[in-house]
Amino acid sequence: MSSDVQSIETDVVIIGAGPVALFAVFELGLLDLKTHIVDILDRPGGQCAELYPEKPIYDIPGIPTVTGAGLVEKLMEQIKPFGAQFHFAEMATSLEKLSDGRWKITTDAGTSITAPVIVIAAGGGSFTPKRPPIAGIENYEGKSIFYAVRKMEQFRGKDVLIAGGGDSALDWTLNLAPIAKSLTLVHHRDGFRAAQHSVNQMRELVAEGKIQFHVASVKELHGADGALEAVTLQGADKKEWRQTANAFLPFFGLTMKLGPIADFGLNLNENLIAVDTEKFQSQTPGIFAIGDINTYPGKLKLILSGFHEGALMAQAAFKICKPNEKLRFQYTTSSSSLQKKLGVG
Ligand SMILES: Cc1cc2nc3c(=O)[nH]c(=O)nc-3n(C[C@H](O)[C@H](O)[C@H](O)COP(=O)(O)OP(=O)(O)OC[C@H]3O[C@@H](n4cnc5c(N)ncnc54)[C@H](O)[C@@H]3O)c2cc1C
Repeated sequence: MSSDVQSIETDVVIIGAGPVALFAVFELGLLDLKTHIVDILDRPGGQCAELYPEKPIYDIPGIPTVTGAGLVEKLMEQIKPFGAQFHFAEMATSLEKLSDGRWKITTDAGTSITAPVIVIAAGGGSFTPKRPPIAGIENYEGKSIFYAVRKMEQFRGKDVLIAGGGDSALDWTLNLAPIAKSLTLVHHRDGFRAAQHSVNQMRELVAEGKIQFHVASVKELHGADGALEAVTLQGADKKEWRQTANAFLPFFGLTMKLGPIADFGLNLNENLIAVDTEKFQSQTPGIFAIGDINTYPGKLKLILSGFHEGALMAQAAFKICKPNEKLRFQYTTSSSSLQKKLGVG
């Protein structure tokens, strides 16, 4: 997403783009509520996409088996008619109540979104990048070392170094190769955790001489005032060499921590948001919590529970967003107006 400052008004802002948030977009969409979704990750799917994309899930009703990535793909297809706006690679950092009763969410990229309803679907918390143990790295962060790609153009014409062996490292290697002046991928071994087709494509680019790949790790950074000029790489044989690099993207995995939501002034119970089971609203009116982030008697941290929570939340959100409109309960099988919204009628 662009790092340009944006100010947006919508019906509902969802924090988190995990499976529960995605299905909530569907339920809100059926009620004509527009959503904006913010996630610190650069793709939808939360834990399904980040922690177990290739593992099969066996307890999604009606789907005997589907992988984490497969479920996210299907949810994205299901919500397509509703045109939800995603703000990826942005962390929701503050929540503020406006004098007109609405809420304003601000992200670390400067985006601010105002809405009468905020839905926190932050799961186990924000995925936070692991910082590699390289001396002085903090001096370069946000200037020439980045843990996520917000704007690809920023890397045009640069000598880009990417480190890591997972999907993020491989995806960004493939995406940035055509626009970078040079691109070097380093990983501590010649084996990857990323999707095989991405690994194959990367190896093709290496064979064509378009990018470089080294089994190596970054030992030292060289530059001044946050502007990286080169790094010292160390190969498997412990030999060291200097490599020109003015942008470095380390993708060394993510840890989950609650992050800024802890300071939103909500009533937290062991880092979870207590909600009622009628609307899944927190003790702060207009702020809802669904999925793994919430707690109530009998809560099960399952995707299917989150789907149910999203459906009930949407009914309550409608009443806040459209207080003068009557909510009619309808089935998708028999309602021509719902089918029209879904583009199937
Ligand atoms: C290995 C494994 C296997 C599992 N298998 C199953 C299974 O078989 N069946 C099942 O039902 N469940 C399973 N689960 C649990 C399931 O994945 C979770 O219940 C589900 O992902 C919860 O979805 P969610 O949308 O609530 O949150 P998450 O998937 O956790 O998504 C939350 C998102 O919010 C984002 N976020 C948080 N804070 C912020 C912030 N401040 N700003 C921006 N973004 C933020 C995070 O980056 C994340 O992407 C499994 C979990 C694991 C780890």
